[in-house]
Amino acid sequence: MKNTGECFCGDVRYEYEGELLDARSCHCSRCRKVSSAQASAYALIKSAGFNWICGEEQLTSYVGNEGFGIQFCSKCGSTLCGILEGVVHGVMLGCVNGDPEVEIVRHIYVGSKAGWEVMPQDVVTFEENEV
Ligand SMILES: [Zn+2]
Ligand SMILES: [Zn+2]
Repeated sequence: MKNTGECFCGDVRYEYEGELLDARSCHCSRCRKVSSAQASAYALIKSAGFNWICGEEQLTSYVGNEGFGIQFCSKCGSTLCGILEGVVHGVMLGCVNGDPEVEIVRHIYVGSKAGWEVMPQDVVTFEENEV
């Protein structure tokens, strides 16, 4: 299966051959800031299937603690992917085009969610990460 993704302005685009894996939503304070939202929505990939189609030169990387970072479009600010030690590790689901045929399987760090967020019913949640 091939998925594509792109940023808000459309200058940066990628394609990914393979399944998106282990889709999750993290509600910790760091993921909220990275996503500018109530939580992250993120799926892992196998880096061998991932290619930038265009706009790679427009990406900016921000690397935080422990070698984990993000890459975002320097023009519109969309965060497209997570990187680990310089390699694309996963994609932010909000920038995937169309229906990638995955569902978020778990919500983690719900114990530190924002006070204004109302969690949906009937989703799998963990106070921190799953054990
Ligand atoms: Zn953009
Ligand atoms: Zn998090």
